[in-house]
Amino acid sequence: MKLKFTILSLLFIASVIKAQTSNDKNTYQEIVAQTDEIFDRLVEVRRDLHVHPEISKQEKKTSQKIANYLKNIGLEVKTNIGGYGVVGILKGGKQGKKIAWRADMDAIKTTEPDVVSFPSKNKGVRHICGHDVHTTIALGLATILARQKHNLKGTVYFIFQPAEETFTGAKDMIKNGLFEIIQPDEIYGLHIGPEKSGVISYKANELFAYQKTLKATFKPTRNEKELASFMNTLLKGFDRNPIKGTPWETIHNISDPEKGIANKETIYKDYFFRSGAKFYKAQNTLVYTASFFETDRENMLSIPLKIKQQIVQSKFKDLLISVAYLPDNSGTPINNPKLTEIAKQTIEGFYNKEMLQPLYGQVPYFGEDFIYYQQKVPGVFFFLGGSNKEKGIKSMPHTPNFAVDENTIKYGVQSFSMFILKRVNNTI
Ligand SMILES: [Zn+2]
Ligand SMILES: [Zn+2]
Repeated sequence: MKLKFTILSLLFIASVIKAQTSNDKNTYQEIVAQTDEIFDRLVEVRRDLHVHPEISKQEKKTSQKIANYLKNIGLEVKTNIGGYGVVGILKGGKQGKKIAWRADMDAIKTTEPDVVSFPSKNKGVRHICGHDVHTTIALGLATILARQKHNLKGTVYFIFQPAEETFTGAKDMIKNGLFEIIQPDEIYGLHIGPEKSGVISYKANELFAYQKTLKATFKPTRNEKELASFMNTLLKGFDRNPIKGTPWETIHNISDPEKGIANKETIYKDYFFRSGAKFYKAQNTLVYTASFFETDRENMLSIPLKIKQQIVQSKFKDLLISVAYLPDNSGTPINNPKLTEIAKQTIEGFYNKEMLQPLYGQVPYFGEDFIYYQQKVPGVFFFLGGSNKEKGIKSMPHTPNFAVDENTIKYGVQSFSMFILKRVNNTI
């Protein structure tokens, strides 16, 4: 069941947040100045992470650097949680709310040459998803909030997660006792995205499409071709506003001003489509697999049964062995609607309004294991734009030319330090 809340409760949130913003100007100015002070150091940290990337489950040196940094700024540090997971704990001057911020730290295997002047020294491995920037922003937040300790009524937890790319790190940290070590009331995090550097994008509920891999297994038959064409036609019947084009074209269109997810009329709002359908022989069976992308969860879950029903009504009914989804290796963050609204109104109170934008669509092809935290703790996952047209920088994760304007670190640290400070201190 989705949480719906009334206009009255929205107005209440708005009035509480407004009443507080008048005292915030000085604090925000102080945070901006402090961020400027530490910026050069953060760029050094980021470049060091970028030059020495480590793939999922091998983030040993990265995690050691993070733990040392956090200890140096006076945080309580826990290490080796669910692999190389690190948690930094910052207790404020008074009791209050407990807020967690999560950053991921793994890099990716790729042979695409790096486009920056400080390329990876670890051959075949590169930060092509911006996790070096996520980690650096989180370290920046820890630094600023440690300096703001006197203003903090509550506790901030900084989670540095390994193995996001394999969709296992969050799960492993939780399994390994993360929420016994820390008990946050809310959790937040961000991913670098293709918008202009510093633009914060937000959306209630799902950010990405639901993604599943369907596997249908059949007994061998001489009518293989006919069966394959039957399956293709059957699945075509499920198409709803399918996104056309190759995955690469699709990914590039996500930030398109007309079609993209920041436009109310986006083509990424309500769809079902398939990608990478394959029909092959395996151990004396015929296997059909395809990836499904669907914006509606219930619909996604209902599809295998519907497919089965149609097969058993066809001439291929005796050939069918099974139809099911493979275990999940992807998922979407599902942002708590009330906290998303609070976040929007809070950030609007101190940040340039033009740099804050709502999203309307759900991105296909990408996944994010932040959802595992959100299944335990309400939270919001943001996108932070990293691109800079004038400098020729485009921050579309996993694309060969991926790069991030380093000023993005500054925007991220300023805005989210202030935001976390306000969440820790607020009672709503
Ligand atoms: Zn990635
Ligand atoms: Zn990523």
